[in-house]
Amino acid sequence: MSIISRFAPSPTGYLHLGHAYSAWLGRSRAAQWFLRLEDIDTTRCKPEFADAIREDLAWLGLRWEGEVRLQSAHFADYRAALEGMAARGLLYPCFCSRAEIAKAQSAPHAAEGIYPGTCRHLSAAERTARMENGAPYALRLDTMRACAQAGALWFFEEATGWVEAQPRRLGDVVLARKDTPTSYHLCVVHDDALQGVTHVIRGEDLREATHIQVLLQKLLGYETPIYHHHRLLLGPDGQRLAKRDKAQTLRALRAEGVHPDTLLRGFAA
Ligand code: GLU
Repeated sequence: MSIISRFAPSPTGYLHLGHAYSAWLGRSRAAQWFLRLEDIDTTRCKPEFADAIREDLAWLGLRWEGEVRLQSAHFADYRAALEGMAARGLLYPCFCSRAEIAKAQSAPHAAEGIYPGTCRHLSAAERTARMENGAPYALRLDTMRACAQAGALWFFEEATGWVEAQPRRLGDVVLARKDTPTSYHLCVVHDDALQGVTHVIRGEDLREATHIQVLLQKLLGYETPIYHHHRLLLGPDGQRLAKRDKAQTLRALRAEGVHPDTLLRGFAA
């Protein structure tokens, strides 16, 4: 099987060693490897970081296929996917503020980190009235209903084997916000399908997200790729690397005279 994969960073900071590892792993396995910029959050993403991503990958010698896909240029595609799900009654407007959600989550029987479903129970009349009053809202997936429509959900994870997806672990995720008419989960499944991605190779911090993404794939009629969730590189303090750690950015390493092949050899070791 000829492997098609992608690297999909958000241009919210400079790439660090962990990104380089992920990109190298994908690039070295794939026959076709795409670069996609997850820049839907237009307030946090910056063109200078988008330029830096291209530059840093070129410095590493990791070449991508064709044009870079900028998600911010495709809001209409994501909206169409969202409308399809709305038409099947799978979305509902959520008017809760962050503070209200935090309060409901601290209730004794609340599931940790999961939206408690407050707005799922609003009547149609209540929803319309609030919307007409101009109350801001997000669109959430009715995950239970979606699971009932989707049936059994399985995905293949390299190193683990077949895994039954359990989207309810993530609850009713937000699929669109007032200021961002889509979400990470929606864009990623849409673009993986569009680009014919056969293998999603990414950090294990995204393993949980896979459960909801497999559900979305089924709802949208997309194929489910094979998943490889790789280990995360740690910094000298034993913590996983983050964009705010300046010392391990590829820029900083390059400025110190580190040769890109030294990094890649380290990954392959
Ligand atoms: N944008 C995500 C990140 O930088 C990657 C998403 C993905 O690979 O699915 O962590």
